[in-house]
Amino acid sequence: MNDGHRRSAVVVGAGLAGLTAATGLAAHGFAVTVLEARDRVGGRTHGIEAAPGVRVDAGAAYLGDRHTELLALAADLGLRTTPTTMLGASRFALGTDAPGGGPATRDGRFPPLDAVALGDLFERLTELTDAVRPEAPWLTPDAAHLDTLTAADWAEQHLTHPDARLFFPLFLGEMCAADPAEVSVLHLAFYLRSGGGLRYLNAFAGGAQQDRIDGGAHQVCERMAEPLGARVRLGETVRAVHQDDRAVTVHTDRGAHRADVAVLALPPLLADTIRYEPALPAPRAGERTARGCAVKVHLVHPAPLWRAHGLSGWSVNARGPLLSTVDDSPPQGIGVLTGFVTGAEAHRFAALPPEQQRAEAVGQAAELFPMLPEPIAVHITDWLNDPHSRGCYAALLGPGDWLRTGPTLTAPHRRVHWAGTETSTAFFGLMEGAVRSGRRVVAEVLARD
Ligand SMILES: Cc1cc2nc3c(=O)[nH]c(=O)nc-3n(C[C@H](O)[C@H](O)[C@H](O)COP(=O)(O)OP(=O)(O)OC[C@H]3O[C@@H](n4cnc5c(N)ncnc54)[C@H](O)[C@@H]3O)c2cc1C
Repeated sequence: MNDGHRRSAVVVGAGLAGLTAATGLAAHGFAVTVLEARDRVGGRTHGIEAAPGVRVDAGAAYLGDRHTELLALAADLGLRTTPTTMLGASRFALGTDAPGGGPATRDGRFPPLDAVALGDLFERLTELTDAVRPEAPWLTPDAAHLDTLTAADWAEQHLTHPDARLFFPLFLGEMCAADPAEVSVLHLAFYLRSGGGLRYLNAFAGGAQQDRIDGGAHQVCERMAEPLGARVRLGETVRAVHQDDRAVTVHTDRGAHRADVAVLALPPLLADTIRYEPALPAPRAGERTARGCAVKVHLVHPAPLWRAHGLSGWSVNARGPLLSTVDDSPPQGIGVLTGFVTGAEAHRFAALPPEQQRAEAVGQAAELFPMLPEPIAVHITDWLNDPHSRGCYAALLGPGDWLRTGPTLTAPHRRVHWAGTETSTAFFGLMEGAVRSGRRVVAEVLARD
C-alpha cells in the first residue's frame, strides 16, 4: 500500500473509537476523513446543559484507575477527573424495607436483603466470570452450553432465594443495562470479566465508577475533533461501502469518499444497516443481539440538598422507573441526581409520552427523597430509541451470538477494518474499550502490507 502516494482513510463514526483511530492515523501521515451521522461528535458520550453553562453526562460518565488508555488520553487533552461523590446513607425501596412499607435508609450501598442469598449470588457469578476466557469468550470451556442459555434461564435454574431473584435483574440493569432475558450467560460472564470483575465494575471508590471527567466525558471527543477540523464531516450518514481492487468508496446521502482503507467504528447493529459490496461474509450482529436498554433521567436541584440529610443520593428500587439513582453533581453549584431506567423497564418507560415520563420520574423521586423540593429541571435522554446508537451502554449479545460472531470480531473485510467498544475484549462496552479499539485498529491499518 505504501507505494509513494499519501495513504488515506475514511473513518465512519466520530465517537471515542472513531476519533481515536482518526487521530492516530492522521499522526502517521494518513489523509483522514471522518464521517459522522449526527450533528455532533461524541456518540455515546454526550453532554447536556443541566443548568445555564453546566453540562452533565447524558451518556457515559464513570471511569476507574484501570481505564488507563482513557485516562492518558483525557490527560493529554488537558481534561481532569472529579470523584463521584458517594458519602452518606442510601435509600432502598425493595418492597419490604421499612416497617411502614416505604423506602428504607441504610448506611453504605449494601441492600437490605438476605446477605447470605446475595453472597451466594455473587459467588456463583464470580465462578462464571473466573471461568470465562476474556480474550476469546467463544473458547471458554463449556462455551457452547453457556451460549445457549439466557441470564434469565440461568437465574431460574440457580437462584432459589427470593432476595437473590429480586436483586439479580436490578444488578444486571445497573451493570450492563440488560434485561436478563436478552443476554446469554456467556456474554454476562464475559462482560463482567472484561470490565475487571464484578467487584471492580460495581465499585465507586477504587472501582470502575470512581471518577468522572470534570465538565463531562463528551469533551474527550470534542477535543480530539478540534485539530481534525473540517476533516470531521457531521450529518453524513453512511449508507454503503463499496470496494474494488484499488480502493474503498464510502457512500453517504451527500456524496462518496474514496480511500485506501475504511475504519468502521460503529455499534454492530448499526454496522449492519450499511450495504457492503462485496457483501460481508456474515452480519456484524448475531441473530439475538439486542439493544442495551437505558434511559437516563437527570433531576436538577439548586444544590446537592440530599447531602445535608446524610444521604449519598444512591438508591436502589425494585419498582421503576428509576431503578437506581446516583449523585452526579458537578464539583460546585447545582445538585444533579441521575436516575437510571434500565432493562425491561426501559422499554416500558421509553414508550411513554414525555409528560408522563417526567411525572413518573418526579413522583418516584418524591417518594425516595421526600425531604427534597421538586427538581428545578428534569432532563430525559432515551438511548434505546436513538437511531444513531440503538441502545446503550453497549450491544447485548444474546444466545448464540458470541460463538458465531466472536471469532471474526476484528477480522478486516478486505480494506474495511472494525473498531468500536463492541470490538474490544478488554473493557467491552465501556469508554476504555472504545479507546483501545481505536488504538488497535491504527496498528492493524499500519501493519497492512
Ligand atoms: C447512558 C450511557 C451510560 C454509559 N455509561 C458508561 C460509563 O459510565 N462508563 C463507560 O466507560 N461507558 C459508559 N457507556 C458506554 C460508552 O459510552 C461507550 O462504550 C462508548 O462511548 C462507545 O464509543 P464508540 O466510539 O465505540 O461508539 P459510539 O460512541 O456509539 O460512536 C459511534 C458513532 O457512529 C455514528 N454513526 C452511527 N451510524 C452511522 C452511520 N451510518 N454513518 C455515520 N456515522 C454513524 C454515531 O452517531 C456515533 O457518533 C455509557 C453509554 C451510555 C449511552
